[in-house]
Amino acid sequence: MTASRKCPHCGHWSAWNQSPTDLCEHCHHPLDPIALERQQAQEDRREEEKKRFTVDLIQINQEDSAFTKFYKSIGLGFQLAFVGIVSFFLWLIALLAG
Ligand SMILES: [Zn+2]
Repeated sequence: MTASRKCPHCGHWSAWNQSPTDLCEHCHHPLDPIALERQQAQEDRREEEKKRFTVDLIQINQEDSAFTKFYKSIGLGFQLAFVGIVSFFLWLIALLAG
């Protein structure tokens, strides 16, 4: 189903699929700039969240001593558990928000 929307930029009516990315047929400006901005803000936020939850995992080197390997693997275990918990919560939030 198509609708039409008055372009906020040039004032002409254009076919509109009710999508934020639809452009005016006359001047090629977004027909719904507010929705487009909102969508972009949402994507930016998602990117930020992804960056925030990225954990630099400990690298265990072959030349490390047995003791270093031992405590690094404990640290790595904690990191993996943390990543697992965070991923679970993100999945849960996505499920609830779905
Ligand atoms: Zn226009």
